[in-house]
Amino acid sequence: MKEITKMTALALGQMIKKKEIKVFEAVLAQLEAIKQREPSYHCYITVLEEEALQMAKKVQEQIDAGLLEDSPLAGVPVAIKDNICTKGIKTTCASKMLADYVPSYDATVIERLKAGGAIIIGKSNMDEFSMGSTTETSYYGATKNPWDKERVPGGSSGGSAAAVAAGEAFFALASDTGGSIRQPAAYCGVIGLKPTYGTVSRYGLIAYASSLDQIGTMGKSVSDCASSLELISGYDPKDSTSIKESHFQYRDALVEGLKGMKIGVPKGIWKAGLDPENAHAIQEAIGLFRNMGAHIEEFEMESMEYAGPSYNIIACAEASSNLSRYDGVKYGFRSMEYEDLEDLYIKTRSEAFGEEVKRRIMLGTLVLSSDYYESYYKKALKVRSLINRSFQKAFEKCDILLTPTTPTTAPKLGTSLSDPLKMYHTDTYNVAINLAGLPALSIPCGLDSKGLPMGLQLIGKHFGEKDIIRAAYNFEQSGSLVSNGNEF
Ligand code: GLN
Repeated sequence: MKEITKMTALALGQMIKKKEIKVFEAVLAQLEAIKQREPSYHCYITVLEEEALQMAKKVQEQIDAGLLEDSPLAGVPVAIKDNICTKGIKTTCASKMLADYVPSYDATVIERLKAGGAIIIGKSNMDEFSMGSTTETSYYGATKNPWDKERVPGGSSGGSAAAVAAGEAFFALASDTGGSIRQPAAYCGVIGLKPTYGTVSRYGLIAYASSLDQIGTMGKSVSDCASSLELISGYDPKDSTSIKESHFQYRDALVEGLKGMKIGVPKGIWKAGLDPENAHAIQEAIGLFRNMGAHIEEFEMESMEYAGPSYNIIACAEASSNLSRYDGVKYGFRSMEYEDLEDLYIKTRSEAFGEEVKRRIMLGTLVLSSDYYESYYKKALKVRSLINRSFQKAFEKCDILLTPTTPTTAPKLGTSLSDPLKMYHTDTYNVAINLAGLPALSIPCGLDSKGLPMGLQLIGKHFGEKDIIRAAYNFEQSGSLVSNGNEF
């Protein structure tokens, strides 16, 4: 039993194809592992025992009938962040506001996973409405980091990352608005891949900040992430920002050799606040890439110091608008007692949103108000253009960029929320990428002296997923620095 959950998603998929293991057995092993480990880690808000077993039966029948031949993940259990709508299954966004919300439709990514025969095993924990960096703002309580139960798994997709790290899912879907896939992947020693904005349909993803949100994948190997991204990518008429591109065959990038690849290492701001142990790991990784034949070029990138403030303004502005739909009238929580319509709005929103969500709605409303629009929101948009230009300039001379994923390893539980500004700093290397809509992934690059995983971030050009996948794949194959084999 224990052995099964140690496998990568693709390895399990292959065994299922070869009839060496039944889908039912794989799902049972997964459910058993969840039962044993959930009390320690709390990766899930909802575990789908019955539904997963039913789905296992259906998928096995399809496989036995010779269908799903081209689907490498058929029969493989996957965790879904609880901000992705699943028909007939509670989708809470880790908020009291949506605690009883049962969507009447599947998100496009869920339809695609189902069509590929993946088995949805549960809805994973997250920061409320994806706002946070630790998964501690969840209405359902924090998830624990499988490497050290006293530490956070990162956020906002901490449940997805911890589930993969703890062997409670073979791979996971999550969303990334400002680092929410990459930062928890780094803290939990797994791989997290956020694609170019527009690659994956956002239809059915509960919005935080629509111009930044993007669904991506997490896995135990680069190949798992590439394969699962391939499954969910592609044009969707239901999302007007999804791109009519046709180069989504990410598995083509799983090839050996990096000779001649130009890797840029932006200095300056990217190093601000960087822990010496993480800095050392990054230097070692750079050496490894050099040995593999890549050209490394260090240079300064302009405007990056404004990425954080600009992200906070834009994300909060969009959030304040997106979250206005939760008013106690249409769906979601409604306060029990109220005097009139305005009182209903106020009580509902006061009672059902957590602190962090309220803080961001207030900030977002302020920067969009007529008095402050010019000096905050409009300025943030201008900064966003500068950041875009800065990346464009960098990509004139480089194929990909390399930075740390996070300044430090996972902090202790209970130490972050009291100082939100400090917490916002943990995604300081991530948010610029969302502002520019670029693809990026995080891959483990060793353990620090506390035995905690550290992450390396690779950033690609727009639709340059294949470059970062190839670089990460080769880094992974080189083995020496990637250490994501914990007790599971
Ligand atoms: N930690 C960032 C925030 O709190 C990023 C969140 C995200 O990517 N969803 O906004």
